[in-house]
Amino acid sequence: MKAGILGATGLVGQRFVQLLNHHPWFELNALTGSGRTAGLPYGEAVNWRRETALKPEVAQLPVQHTDPTNLDADVVFSALPADEALKIEEDFAKAGFVVVSNASSHRMESDVPLMNPEANFDHLSLIDEQRRNRKWDGAIVTNPNCTTAVLTLPLKPIHADFGIKNVIVSSMQALSGAGYPGVASLDIVDNIIPFIKEEEEKVQHETQKILGEVGKAGDFNVSASCHRVPVLDGHTEAIFVQTREPTSPEGISESMTRFSAEPQRLKLPSAPERPIVVRKEADRPQPRFDRLEGNGMSVVVGRIKKDPVFDGVKYVALGHNTLRGAAGCAVLIGESLKAKGYL
Ligand code: NAP
Repeated sequence: MKAGILGATGLVGQRFVQLLNHHPWFELNALTGSGRTAGLPYGEAVNWRRETALKPEVAQLPVQHTDPTNLDADVVFSALPADEALKIEEDFAKAGFVVVSNASSHRMESDVPLMNPEANFDHLSLIDEQRRNRKWDGAIVTNPNCTTAVLTLPLKPIHADFGIKNVIVSSMQALSGAGYPGVASLDIVDNIIPFIKEEEEKVQHETQKILGEVGKAGDFNVSASCHRVPVLDGHTEAIFVQTREPTSPEGISESMTRFSAEPQRLKLPSAPERPIVVRKEADRPQPRFDRLEGNGMSVVVGRIKKDPVFDGVKYVALGHNTLRGAAGCAVLIGESLKAKGYL
């Protein structure tokens, strides 16, 4: 299938290019940017910041205007800034394109699926409602904010097996989550910034939407505090969970370890064999060593312990913010759409 990337020159856009370079189902056919880069060959337009070389045939592709006319693709992956995505993604859906978006603009709309595929594969069915409501043939499907993607994966088996009542999460978020060039080095070296605009609200609301039933927010509370730390890739989260049913660290560990979902059953190309990897060492997970587990699509959990305040459990989770938390998750959504006949 032919794939397009909207906002292909940004950090997430570059991740999409890297992931689609050798994808078994999707072939990179169109790249777009703003007026700043439209018309240039991609190799000239982009400040390539990935560790693998840009393929010459991709470097030669022209950057197109981000406009549905004259764009040849069966599916488009959007890495646009939220302000721009709001209207542009609707224009694409109206023109019949299926848009898988990283941007926050449409995530909380009631007929837009907000997908972390292993956690809520059944939410894809909202596309039918969206097409009826909006009278368009295309669709908008969104992936979560990066911190929410890492949080909701290990919460899913806990919620399914024990029921969640309350969650407290404190994040330590990587610099690549702020786009390029991101946070000034003079602000972040030897420092931690305890504020990321609108992040805490996003984590709280998106987690309830993802872990709720289709069209209904989850019946539990989430409190998040978010911090930017001097790590390049990989968000680390300290998570405290109060469950409805009694549980133990051993019960939670077993529930997470055996967790597997529809993407694994369908053997989707980007689905990691083990969505959650539980480490027993006292000092893991760590971003430098664990962020590429499952090609960056697994969440690594460690330090599962009883929480004395909540009478529940606490643990540390780590996930790659531009793979599981952005482009990788969106490609997995694209594969889910294809597997279910929406493409
Ligand atoms: P970024 O590095 O700033 O890239 C933005 C991209 O959008 C560039 O390709 C830029 O093109 C394009 N663009 C900007 N204004 C445009 C316009 N008016 N029309 C068309 N294209 C325009 O941002 P990013 O970090 O890749 O993030 C992209 C999106 O993903 C954001 O919505 C972000 O919140 C979300 N997200 C990011 C992460 C992460 O870890 N970084 C995780 C989850 C979600 P030019 O280069 O041509 O200007």
